[in-house]
Amino acid sequence: MAAERLQFHEMGLDDRLLKAVADLGWSQPTLIQEKAIPLALEGKDLLARARTGSGKTAAYAIPIIQRILASKQSVRVQDVRALILVPTKELGQQVQSMIRQLTSCCSRDVRVADISGKADVSTQRPILMEKPDVVVGTPSRVLAHLKAQNLVLHSSLEMLVVDEADLVFSFGFESDLKNLLCHLPKIYQSFLMSATFNEDVQALKELLLHNPVTLKLQGSQLPDSSQLQQYTIKCEEEDKFLLIYTLLKLQLVQGKTLLFVGAVDRSYRLKLFLEQFAIPACVLNSELPVQSRCHLISQFNQGFYDIIIASDEQTLVQPAVSSSGKEKKQKSSEKGAKAKDKEYGVSRGVDFQNVANVINFDFPTSVDSYIHRVGRTARADNPGTALSFVAHTELSALEEVEESLCGDKAESALKPYEFRMEEIEGFRYRCRDAMRAVTKQAVREARLKEIKQELLNSEKLKTYFEDNPRDLQLLRHDKDLHPAVIKPHMKNIPDYLIPETLRGVVNPLSSRRRKRRIKPAAEGVVKSSFKKNVPGRNPLKSFRFTGSRNKKAKGAKS
Ligand code: AMP
Repeated sequence: MAAERLQFHEMGLDDRLLKAVADLGWSQPTLIQEKAIPLALEGKDLLARARTGSGKTAAYAIPIIQRILASKQSVRVQDVRALILVPTKELGQQVQSMIRQLTSCCSRDVRVADISGKADVSTQRPILMEKPDVVVGTPSRVLAHLKAQNLVLHSSLEMLVVDEADLVFSFGFESDLKNLLCHLPKIYQSFLMSATFNEDVQALKELLLHNPVTLKLQGSQLPDSSQLQQYTIKCEEEDKFLLIYTLLKLQLVQGKTLLFVGAVDRSYRLKLFLEQFAIPACVLNSELPVQSRCHLISQFNQGFYDIIIASDEQTLVQPAVSSSGKEKKQKSSEKGAKAKDKEYGVSRGVDFQNVANVINFDFPTSVDSYIHRVGRTARADNPGTALSFVAHTELSALEEVEESLCGDKAESALKPYEFRMEEIEGFRYRCRDAMRAVTKQAVREARLKEIKQELLNSEKLKTYFEDNPRDLQLLRHDKDLHPAVIKPHMKNIPDYLIPETLRGVVNPLSSRRRKRRIKPAAEGVVKSSFKKNVPGRNPLKSFRFTGSRNKKAKGAKS
């Protein structure tokens, strides 16, 4: 129970850390933080099953900062005391940024450097020469610096973290990691954070941890139904487009939304489809330069966009390349489970904030992929909603997910989304029209056009934006791609087409692009989710013909 949770101020933390935590607006520790921080402060090695969004970064960062602050009171020698290994550059940036926030009141005493980025080893040398207290990097980059003697850890290192440990292996960092260990001292405290406890993580555990405490926390890797509501609706291809159009255009889905599709091509197909109705959306495509993707996510987090279309067919974020380049050459024998691991896994590295809804436009092909997609919402203590569209060909995948999430429980975690498709028949013609306009050729052109655009943004303008960072704000990623024929009337919905039950209740998205909202949502608050999403009830339950319009409108407003 929340009331019984150990509080931050009861953990014996330095006042500067407590102040930073308060500034972040964190009223209480998350479950993993409550369990991990005291154990870590006792000096225990930890193996924690922690999903992204559980507050795992602070679960290891807080004890690291506390320990550095405490030891600096007696020994003021500046040295690298903590090393955090991450599988991707993006995660590296996020970890650094989290530590910067947590050290906002003691930034002179605890310095952090992220070396996972793109800069060359030699460019990063001066940063390491200053011996930051905490170094964040990918195994290959850290190893390169150790070999070049830019980084010396064998006498100073006190704490080691391997974050997203399962991915570190599946990205081919295994040998880099093993080589790196030879450069570390004999004794240090270790934390292994991993979303899954697979064989690789077991192997890493043997290698790194000494008498560790294992924290599995809740059986489920997703929050329970009081925080995360999960729905499914059976619909075939055309109905998927019809339904998404209705949900977005009538703003039945509100708040920041991630739309997951099965392939990159389908991302563009969906974008071009929505574009015809003046519903702006960005495509997060792994083919785009990493800067573009990070920029897009950071703008999404700042409230520039409400909808991102993503596919986890490939990677949302590219893994940093291991020194052996193994992840690219994954042997065919390893494909299967491991390759799948990699596919869904990478989408975890990106930190979307305050996502109110995840919509699986296409159902994920594995349970893990479902967990990682849906885990983007209902993070920390925020509420969230997940809705999956399921075609008949996707039913077996749905069954697998249900089985895995519910286990022996009689009640399914995924509830049917009771939406009366027949009431939106009136929209079918315009949707068909829009679908017809999105030909294969149009998708190909859009894909190419965006890559060209983003390459230009990313390469040619990189230097310019380094000098003029404010202008970067002007770059938007949800611009129309336009290869489809645009019919102006499609942007608006005539009143007669709106289902009777929803007239007066919904507020169709107008054709004008909404003003950019730069102000981020209040920390920890997901503004709104599916309209009429009353706990314990189905959204759109009032989407029922009751005979009286007034009554319906009233019910729908509840
Ligand atoms: P992580 O699992 O580390 O990626 O964290 C997910 C999100 O939860 C981040 O945006 C953190 O800022 C946020 N967060 C971490 N700890 C807390 C907390 N105790 N209360 C509220 N939000 C938190």
